[in-house]
Amino acid sequence: MQTAPFYSRLAHHVGSVAVWHDNEACPLGQQIALVDRNSGQDHLRAHCKRCVQLNQPVMLFHLSQGAYSDVLAGVIESMTAARVVD
Ligand SMILES: [Zn+2]
Repeated sequence: MQTAPFYSRLAHHVGSVAVWHDNEACPLGQQIALVDRNSGQDHLRAHCKRCVQLNQPVMLFHLSQGAYSDVLAGVIESMTAARVVD
């Protein structure tokens, strides 16, 4: 889930990648103890790539129920076709 931007105030000391995070599901962000977090983006830092990924909406959530069924049917069809070839 997306959250307010934060970064580790210890990043400079431990030499870890200086990025800011904004997703609480980010494993890298989770490694930063709450007491070591500074809020904000610190303009010199890059946005964490993992957080960028996590912030992307999952494609299937945007498909309507009908479209999802079509995708599923296509997958089943291709699996069946592969089995016939075997
Ligand atoms: Zn992150």
